[in-house]
Amino acid sequence: MIALQRDQTVKELMLQAAIRRGFQEYNDELIRLQQGVLGERYVDRSWHDMKLTEPYYLIHDFQTEAHQIDTIFLCQKFILIVEIKNIAGRIDFDETRHQFIRTLDNGTINSFRNPLDQVRRHRRMLQGVVSDLPILYAIVFAHPKTIIGHIPQGEPIFHCSGLEFRIRKLLTQYATQLSSIELHNLTAKLLQMHTIKKPQLHIDKTKIRTGVLCAQCQTGVKMLYHYGHFKCPKCHYKDTGILLRQAMEDYCLLIDEWITNEEFRKFVGVTSADSAKRLLKKLGFPCIGENKGRKYRISIK
Ligand SMILES: [Zn+2]
Repeated sequence: MIALQRDQTVKELMLQAAIRRGFQEYNDELIRLQQGVLGERYVDRSWHDMKLTEPYYLIHDFQTEAHQIDTIFLCQKFILIVEIKNIAGRIDFDETRHQFIRTLDNGTINSFRNPLDQVRRHRRMLQGVVSDLPILYAIVFAHPKTIIGHIPQGEPIFHCSGLEFRIRKLLTQYATQLSSIELHNLTAKLLQMHTIKKPQLHIDKTKIRTGVLCAQCQTGVKMLYHYGHFKCPKCHYKDTGILLRQAMEDYCLLIDEWITNEEFRKFVGVTSADSAKRLLKKLGFPCIGENKGRKYRISIK
């Protein structure tokens, strides 16, 4: 069963907000993240399709201060750390140089951090926590077209389609060490260690494109407030409230989750404090404080 679901949406939302607000340099990172997420979802499905009869737990996207593990598979016999890669092209591992090289069809060569170094580091951390189970690892390629070239002998590096075979083989190779209660307790212990780090983007907050941005115009035209509504000066599109909410969510993701009436007016371009108050009330954000000290807490839907 899944003990911890995967949730990487905050980082994705943050990157999308940054790009919308003028930081195009995050485009590549967003694409990489989305590719990674696709790969992880692809591999996640294969656990479900295995229909294992032995009790097991899956912890997806396990995080501590210094570690981020794509998946931890726990059963009564062993723990398996799974590092998921979703990379097109041909990949080669160079163990002596600790390099991991990808070659695309057009000849482009990129070098990445060696995932073997990563999983071994994760294993050392888990060995400090878990004393009564062998800790194994695997590097799984989600992209069906990845060509796995040179890999160090005996290292568990394979395509997602081989995961079930690997798991079933390990289940026959290893003996039961834990009772089902002990397995449950061990999973709970790891979940207690799990800490979510709020992702940070190091952007210059003074350069954030402000305003309610038109969704019809591609270039992010700032909509103007007029008699209770935001309207695009270019295409005349009238916001139904969705784009104002998006502006607030962007503010929350990139600047602060709290906003005052004054900050709100400055960000969306409303001059009247009363109008701002009405708009904030309509958004339904919970607030604390009175009068000028009132702060609203932006919630993301
Ligand atoms: Zn427009």
